[in-house]
Amino acid sequence: MLSGKVALVTGGSRGIGKAIALKLAQEGADVAVLYAGNAAAAQATVDEITALGRKAAAWKCDVADFDASKETVAAVVKEFGGVDILVNNAGITRDTLLLTMKEADFDAVIDTNLKGAFHMIKHCCRTLMKRGGRIINISSVVGLMGNAGQVNYSASKAGVIGMTKSVARELASRGVCCNAIAPGFIATDMTDAIPPEMAEKMAQTIPMGRVGKPEDVAALAAFLASDAAGYITGEVIRVDGGMAM
Ligand code: NAP
Repeated sequence: MLSGKVALVTGGSRGIGKAIALKLAQEGADVAVLYAGNAAAAQATVDEITALGRKAAAWKCDVADFDASKETVAAVVKEFGGVDILVNNAGITRDTLLLTMKEADFDAVIDTNLKGAFHMIKHCCRTLMKRGGRIINISSVVGLMGNAGQVNYSASKAGVIGMTKSVARELASRGVCCNAIAPGFIATDMTDAIPPEMAEKMAQTIPMGRVGKPEDVAALAAFLASDAAGYITGEVIRVDGGMAM
């Protein structure tokens, strides 16, 4: 579905981002993998993509840093010739109740999850416009429903949805589609940090009766990146086993 395309996946070293990077490569894309600090995990993703016969390289890049994001995008464009598919997946949590949430907890989550996506879209938009590209933003069902203990995270993910729709409107005439995926409860390092009794309670709210896998999200990302999805833009699609319907 994606041969000849170049994808840039933020947070491609682990979890959902890694599954997306691998799926896009399986479909024929070359992949630039961005990560925050886990060089060994990023290299493992690169090695798995290379083993599939696709080109891949990793860059350490804090997406919350405007200038670092700009330099990294320039390096990716130089190495790969451009970007067709931007996946804004990098994300963090700093969960705590509002009463105990510090300003730094709020800022860190907004800076990575929301501003990080803005930085990458801003720096990639010229190459995406030239190539009729795709932007896929990873939001969350929490951006739709809210969640106690995640005032910062839900604000960032709801912000991503608003940004997705505005970008979709701005870039539609340039042939760029911009959509958001809202995963539910997906088994990754991020959800491993949730206390087991709370995780069990959350899992019980999933109509399909199971926690999601990163591959469940990656399948949709590959479809949204493909030519088959060329008339879909500004959409938010849940991958949550029915959790938020
Ligand atoms: P994860 O396993 O914790 O992985 C997070 C990834 O983001 C890692 O690759 C990490 O890089 C990277 N990252 C973190 N901060 C970064 C920064 N400032 N700059 C660049 N990269 C950064 O998380 P996940 O569960 O796969 O989540 C991926 C995305 O899906 C996030 O946006 C998350 O909010 C969203 N999501 C997850 C779930 C879920 O249930 N898991 C549900 C809904 C939405 P390093 O490896 O270098 O640290």
